[in-house]
Amino acid sequence: MTEARRIKSGKWRIYSGPESDVARDPQNGAVAYFTSLDEARRWWQRLQPDDPPLKEAIKCAWCGAYFGRKMSYTTYAGRYYHPQHIPQARNS
Ligand SMILES: [Zn+2]
Repeated sequence: MTEARRIKSGKWRIYSGPESDVARDPQNGAVAYFTSLDEARRWWQRLQPDDPPLKEAIKCAWCGAYFGRKMSYTTYAGRYYHPQHIPQARNS
């Protein structure tokens, strides 16, 4: 499973494999950064042409945080939330 995440600086990185390793440039081994999801998607497409198009990692629709690999989340009205961030939980 491969997914893109936007980091605090506003740039994007790609995480891939069972351990969610950050993708590195195969030529120089440096962590690959992108200015947009589209750019990350094109780069990944060239590297792994057989992979499906890269998607952004799912994140909480309320607080915007990405979910960690072992973190639990829930869906509500077709969006993803931390269990404590679903609208019902916040209103109570
Ligand atoms: Zn949240």
